[in-house]
Amino acid sequence: MKSPIPDYLHHVLETARPNEGGAAADYIETLANADTSKMAICLSMVDGNVYSAGDDKIEFSIQSISKAFVYAIAIEDAGLDQVLSKIGVEPSGDRFNQLSLERNTNRPMNPMINAGAITAHSLVVSPTATLDQRTERILNALSRLAGRQLHVDEEVYQAELKDADRNMAIGYMLKAAGIITCDPQEAVRGYIRQCAINVNVQDLAMMSAVLANAGVHPVSNEQIIPQTSVRQVLSVMTTCGMYDAAGDWVSSVGFPAKSGVAGAIIGALPGQVGIATFSPKIDERGNSVRGVAMCQQLSREMGLHMMDASHVARSTVQTSVSTLVEGEHKTHNGSCKREVVVFKLRGAVRFPGAERLTRALARELGQPDPLDEGSGSHADACGIVFSFRDVFSLNFIARRLIHENIARLLKEGKVLVIIDPSEVLEWDKAKAKDGRHPKVVDNETEARDYIGGTGCQAVSQDPEW
Ligand code: GLU
Repeated sequence: MKSPIPDYLHHVLETARPNEGGAAADYIETLANADTSKMAICLSMVDGNVYSAGDDKIEFSIQSISKAFVYAIAIEDAGLDQVLSKIGVEPSGDRFNQLSLERNTNRPMNPMINAGAITAHSLVVSPTATLDQRTERILNALSRLAGRQLHVDEEVYQAELKDADRNMAIGYMLKAAGIITCDPQEAVRGYIRQCAINVNVQDLAMMSAVLANAGVHPVSNEQIIPQTSVRQVLSVMTTCGMYDAAGDWVSSVGFPAKSGVAGAIIGALPGQVGIATFSPKIDERGNSVRGVAMCQQLSREMGLHMMDASHVARSTVQTSVSTLVEGEHKTHNGSCKREVVVFKLRGAVRFPGAERLTRALARELGQPDPLDEGSGSHADACGIVFSFRDVFSLNFIARRLIHENIARLLKEGKVLVIIDPSEVLEWDKAKAKDGRHPKVVDNETEARDYIGGTGCQAVSQDPEW
């Protein structure tokens, strides 16, 4: 069967194509001569599967989209505190190349306008690094994100350098305000070089998918950007990524995004997908006219708005009961009904999923409450199993809550077995409270053998038991 997804992307492209609004950026000569008939769209899933349509191999300069990634690099190289002391996180409502600084602090308002981006660039490697060192660092980092070696488009670089008076003015303003300490011309030239790196929509979708995938590269599985930096970058993209159209964007499209004057837009929907569109004609705010239309359509038709409530938490815990027969286990006491209760979690478990497990444990394993029919139904179970076999990840609060539940059940003397072949629970023997540990195994058979004795059978409503 042929996947319908590329056909759908093609349909999105053709729906936007008749829109002739906007014009190619004219303040950089090479961009002014761009072929405005070119259009492309690409989605990269967080497992690295890529779908694209249109001119998906056409290269263009990354321009302002680089700002999001260079901000992440600056955080890595200088530390978040230092970056925050130099660059704010407030939307400015100004044009991208406004000569403006925040009142009182003198910081550029955010890293997505040129003043903030030039400052972020100056923090890459170190404030005393050379232009070449910073360019090499940025090119390597962006290439790693894209999954192929990228290059600077020298023609675009030279063209922009020729008309760089405004950005140079911003550089000198930053130096005078004590925000940058290096040579302003060097910082601006480096910033312009970073903007002149060539990419295509497939590169951009993959780079966005790294942001959507908590900083882990979907293909190489390497943690390229620390998770805390990803959160910082996506937050700033949400509030400041679309120049002064951020409010419009968040309400009508609703995923963190960044656009560039060459006509590309990236979007990153956490946990789901990286998106990239390209069409050179931009509106008066600097955003690609057809790109905005394509992102609006994708968001509407594919349910990609980040504020659309998810129902995932409602289905993450499943309880089932098995009765063990022919077990050789000698420790069963008289009151034991040879019953094993299995609590199975699924997916990427966060606080709501862990809370549902906690609620089920307290209700079903606790004492019966006459007002709550079904409560205490497994208070005498001879074994309790947590199955994390289908759990992709636990976030820190889910893990902490489940660890606490485990400690409490062990303290009550329960026999507890954890099926955790991928070690998502990260049970640390050295750190366990009171030296009590659950039995951690790889599969159902090992769990059954442990509770009921080797070779025991289970009669169950659950086919896996
Ligand atoms: N290099 C461009 C500039 O600084 C980037 C602008 C943009 O893409 O918004 O003017």
